[in-house]
Amino acid sequence: MADNVGNSDARPDLDLDEAFGDDAPTIDEQEMAEAEAGCGEVAISIPLGGHPAGVERQRHGGARSMGFRPGGGAEALAYQERTGIKAPRIIAWEITRSCNLSCAHCRASAEFGHYHGELSLDQIKSTIDDIVTISNPIIILTGGEPLMRPDIWEIVDYAHEKGAMPVIGTNATLITDEIAAKMAEHRIPRISVSIDFPTAAEHDEFRGQPGCFDQSIEGIKIAKRHGVGVQINTTVTTLNADKIDEIHDLAESLGVDAFHIFMLVPTGRGSDMLDKELPPEEYERVLTWAYHRQKTSPLHFKPTDSPHYYRIIRQLAKAEGKKVTREEYGLDAMTRGCLGGITFCFISHVGDIQPCGYFDMQLGNVKEKPFSDIWTESKVFNDLRDYNLLKGKCGACEYKAVCGGCRARALELTGDYLEAEPYCVYEPPGWTGECEGASE
Ligand code: SF4
Ligand code: SF4
Repeated sequence: MADNVGNSDARPDLDLDEAFGDDAPTIDEQEMAEAEAGCGEVAISIPLGGHPAGVERQRHGGARSMGFRPGGGAEALAYQERTGIKAPRIIAWEITRSCNLSCAHCRASAEFGHYHGELSLDQIKSTIDDIVTISNPIIILTGGEPLMRPDIWEIVDYAHEKGAMPVIGTNATLITDEIAAKMAEHRIPRISVSIDFPTAAEHDEFRGQPGCFDQSIEGIKIAKRHGVGVQINTTVTTLNADKIDEIHDLAESLGVDAFHIFMLVPTGRGSDMLDKELPPEEYERVLTWAYHRQKTSPLHFKPTDSPHYYRIIRQLAKAEGKKVTREEYGLDAMTRGCLGGITFCFISHVGDIQPCGYFDMQLGNVKEKPFSDIWTESKVFNDLRDYNLLKGKCGACEYKAVCGGCRARALELTGDYLEAEPYCVYEPPGWTGECEGASE
């Protein structure tokens, strides 16, 4: 039995060898892929092997070679040996909820101003001290707008000093030459920037602030000039689903390193946008388009928060007579759809821990209990690591090891994070039950 994803002893039926034959990745490959792939609303990949267009052989999705290996340090390996649980490889950390914009789909419903109870610099440092006893993760500093936090460079330096890899998720509207120079000076390898439409008028209306498109584009250009890598993230809704190709071309013309599309998960302010979420069939169409667009994209291009993309890859590859190998499909062959609670988690501005930013359930608070204890002991985390607990058609699905469905969406729409993913059209062979949640 191959232990390819998540916690080995929690998944007695996981058998990728049986499901995918020679396509099954090795443990090491899987670990590396998960570490770089990321998941969650601010997922970011870091430039470990240069621009994907520059590698000798362009792979599906623009996969690259590895350098820094999050979750691969001595402490992480010892932790895994001791507990049988994988160490966190990517942590998205909302270091402030304050933001200079007020975007319609914002998970955090962030606004400008001080938020009571935000973690102090000392609390952040002591949490980092605890995290590095079990892992050396990528830490995505996000918000709100993380650049609004005056001590951000101290946080960045401290994370580096302790062996973690800090990156920044920003709206880029505040990036000046001075800020970009600081990013380079403080060794930020990459930032992620959200662009949701190809034109200023549409983006500004969606983001709620005239001029923010031009400011973000300028911020991206400045960051690139200072040698900081840039990833563009786009949240896909019914408003922009037919414009993704144009946004991809904009990203390419800007010379950025990566382009990730995110499927709207209706929590936070985004819950007001439930009617803007793509219906399941359209969701499937966009992910199918992404599969084909990846073949020629020079960017590191991948869908995120779209777990069944990893089912679609295998279905389409099979139809083309191909095997989903590392050589051909790069990281997509090796990672899993939902990594929340498995190798990824989220820390809120006040220190609450969640499987991801969209998963609206607090599993503990770092002011009251060490991060490492919450990661190890939380029932919800341990449930998410045991794919046998999945219910409905996800529980019956032969792709659950590589997909697993979006647990945040299941929680939001059914009240049970282990229920079937409500936005998947797939019917596993032999499955006769009804899918709860959205109509299909
Ligand atoms: S049924 Fe669930 S596990 Fe299977 S592909 Fe759909 S979302 Fe993924
Ligand atoms: S629960 Fe959904 S949004 Fe959260 S990490 Fe998993 S796929 Fe992404």
